[in-house]
Amino acid sequence: MEDPNLKVLIIGAGIGGLALAVLLEKAGIAYEVYERASKVRPLGSAVQLNANILPFFQQLGICDDIRKFGKPVEYTRVVGQNLQSLGQIDATEVEQRMGYPSIIVARPELYDLLLSQVPVSKIHMSKKITSVEQDLSSTMQPGTAVKITCSDGTVAHGDLIVGADGAYSVVRQHIYDDLLKKNKLPASDAKELSFSHVCLVGTTKELDPERYPILKQPDARHSILMGPPKMRYSVWCFTVPQNRICWFVTLQMQKASSKSKEEKLVNNSEWGPEAAEAMCQQVKDYKTPYGGELGDLIENTDKTLISKVMLEEKQFKTWYDGRAVLLGDACHKMLPSGGQGAINAMHDAIILANMIYDIRENTTPEIADAFKKYRDARFAQAEYHINTSKQLGKILMGVSFWDRIIRKIALNYVPKFLIRMAMDKQGVYQPQAGFLPLFPYKGFIAPLSQEPCKRYVEKQQRQAEQTNQAQRKATEAAIVEPKVAAATVGL
Ligand SMILES: Cc1cc2nc3c(=O)[nH]c(=O)nc-3n(C[C@H](O)[C@H](O)[C@H](O)COP(=O)(O)OP(=O)(O)OC[C@H]3O[C@@H](n4cnc5c(N)ncnc54)[C@H](O)[C@@H]3O)c2cc1C
Repeated sequence: MEDPNLKVLIIGAGIGGLALAVLLEKAGIAYEVYERASKVRPLGSAVQLNANILPFFQQLGICDDIRKFGKPVEYTRVVGQNLQSLGQIDATEVEQRMGYPSIIVARPELYDLLLSQVPVSKIHMSKKITSVEQDLSSTMQPGTAVKITCSDGTVAHGDLIVGADGAYSVVRQHIYDDLLKKNKLPASDAKELSFSHVCLVGTTKELDPERYPILKQPDARHSILMGPPKMRYSVWCFTVPQNRICWFVTLQMQKASSKSKEEKLVNNSEWGPEAAEAMCQQVKDYKTPYGGELGDLIENTDKTLISKVMLEEKQFKTWYDGRAVLLGDACHKMLPSGGQGAINAMHDAIILANMIYDIRENTTPEIADAFKKYRDARFAQAEYHINTSKQLGKILMGVSFWDRIIRKIALNYVPKFLIRMAMDKQGVYQPQAGFLPLFPYKGFIAPLSQEPCKRYVEKQQRQAEQTNQAQRKATEAAIVEPKVAAATVGL
């Protein structure tokens, strides 16, 4: 009853899947990760890490590494086509208020750091999951309730399955197909993901600071250039240690589209290097907020590591069914403008790991109850970040007339106390693993309180009782010994 010996199958070794693997490893819960890519490719641009995730990294003991390969953000500066200032967001008070700075890291390095925390034997590469089956009967044997099949024929079994397989999740498809048959799928969940922006992302190789003097600045110089309205683009740049620039360019489409529509147009299901190459040609003459042209940064970036991604937005209502559950982009996809996609995936992983840790019996109702608690704890947070990312998207990427008006007001006329309030609201949510010692807060503003896992508290109490008992025995023995000694002397 005490330890249900669960085996978790994690589908997808993205940031969310890896964060969950790290947590289950720490919790001593059995798991395996299945990833469709044949090898880890250091893809992506920058990820912004704030007080809402850094205490968790403190818990894992990897916060100092993050600080080593990141740079703090002081301002987000927005400029126009001629590099004229359009305004800025001031983040200089964040560290004093929340106890942690806002740090920009290159996504590949964050990814590698998480990867280094997971034993190699637990991650199975080149395993594209094609089907998921669940046996929810009470007669099934432990370790067999869920079954996955990969495109190469590999089959694996476990007790529960986590779909951390991104925006086009196969696990989600499986859950939704089942619910659709039972007429239990909300209509909004049945709708395809749509997107109105596409994005090209990359991180340069080491650059010459004499050519890019901005690299000598100690902060990340988070800067955005808004292209002319007709061109509908924005170029984002950040500096990171080792004289590199993380960059991405967003293009707002005239009309929202979907993956299936685009596949019909370009006959390209994976948005691979061909699509990225075509977009590189399209944007190479765009200016960057640091001066110069984007083509120069593209030239200095390994072509195989430049990726084109679609910027979908959607909050799915259904996050679990039976013994299958979703996390990260598989259940909530947000614009990168708020810098919260990766953080929310990790928040999901933390809360889900806490709930899995507290499962006491390997039964479908117990597991479904844990998934419900996870979804209840995370849904509103994810929704909040989808909405704030959308609003920031208008301010930092929007191209319409109204977007420009909103941008002008937001970057120049919003009182500082309102910006502080918004940053505090984000910063006070600092979930941590409830089965590890909680890391105390360091800032001026207290975070939302968090309960440790119930089983962890019981374990601590048991350990304390055992220590007390051992101490009592030692004290009793120390009292008895002199008596025995005295008796011996008397004899
Ligand atoms: C190429 C790329 C670059 C990005 N760059 C940035 C960036 O620069 N800055 C930023 O803030 N965010 C970036 N993001 C987004 C960010 O990483 C995610 O929003 C966030 O980390 C959520 O991660 P996730 O683990 O939920 O999903 P993902 O990161 O999408 O990971 C899903 C994983 O599942 C795997 N997978 C999918 N289907 C299957 C299957 N059938 N079987 C097995 N495995 C499967 C995928 O290969 C992938 O590794 C990028 C995303 C991608 C895909």
